[in-house]
Amino acid sequence: MTTLSTPAAGQVPARAAARYGVDGVASAPLPWRTSGDALGHDSDLDAPEAPRRRTGAGVSGLSTAEDLDRHDKLAMMRSGELGSVHSWELVTAVDGPGTRLTVFLNGCPLRCLYCHNPDTLQMKDGEPVTADELLARVKRYLPVFRATKGGLTLSGGEVLMQPAFAARILAGAKEMGVHTTLDTSGFLGANLSDEMLANTDLVLLDVKSGDPATYEKVTGRALEPTLTFGRRLAESGLPGGVTAEHPVEVWIRYVLVPGLTDQAEHVDVVADYAASLNEIRPGTVTRVEVLPFHQMGRDKWETLGREYELTDTPAPDVELVDRVRDQFRAKGLTVY
Ligand code: SF4
Repeated sequence: MTTLSTPAAGQVPARAAARYGVDGVASAPLPWRTSGDALGHDSDLDAPEAPRRRTGAGVSGLSTAEDLDRHDKLAMMRSGELGSVHSWELVTAVDGPGTRLTVFLNGCPLRCLYCHNPDTLQMKDGEPVTADELLARVKRYLPVFRATKGGLTLSGGEVLMQPAFAARILAGAKEMGVHTTLDTSGFLGANLSDEMLANTDLVLLDVKSGDPATYEKVTGRALEPTLTFGRRLAESGLPGGVTAEHPVEVWIRYVLVPGLTDQAEHVDVVADYAASLNEIRPGTVTRVEVLPFHQMGRDKWETLGREYELTDTPAPDVELVDRVRDQFRAKGLTVY
């Protein structure tokens, strides 16, 4: 999908660069704070300013349902009326086309060694926010989305830890005509119903390794559910499929960690996999983002008192990043 804010080839989207660190992209546009003036509107769009890390600045501006008792909270979470939300932010050129309202949900079944969001891993650590409250926030940014061809991105943690909540948000956003994106590892892809899939325009699919043993070492979980989920996304857009009318688009994300995910043969497996999705349905994978590892998440681990195993791991050098990007390009993929 071509958008106003799609970065030029070779650039890395702003927060992705901040998230994993990229040498030589200092000129990439920083996530900007949206204001009414910036878009010619006079409404007070009080988005939290995106800090130079993966998650937003908390749930400021959203009402939280703190007063509910535990029983009511659990019932509302089961029905999807209530979610556990870490934060939200408004970003451009990151997490999908145009300007995005990205919402980070709490809870994740993976334990990635390089996780930049260790404070999102536990569902109990999030803030209780109703689907109605979040959709009111989406509605507020409709002019921004229209002006930039942007939309809503649900991220985490792992968005599919809260499928009922995600389903309500996706359906509500689609009713408003908003472009929707899911940022997911795909491990819980089975939690995505066909109805949710039909309400999803783009999936950012994080494939953390092409080698099952390395995937397990990196995440603590198995690779296969992610691969199965990606194939389902491709097949869903075929004639008779659940997204046949409006085929879901996929961006593959690959975090490049020296000594962990840089083996050429493992990268080739991911590249072959991405290309195979386009063999199932041409045009499924429209972008591959190679995201160089950086140490920016380390302080969060220390704050949480958790052992961080990648303390001595360097960021990949430019040659390595270029080599890996070229491996994906060699399979006919569009790479950033
Ligand atoms: S999938 Fe994402 S949120 Fe979950 S552990 Fe891995 S990096 Fe962290």
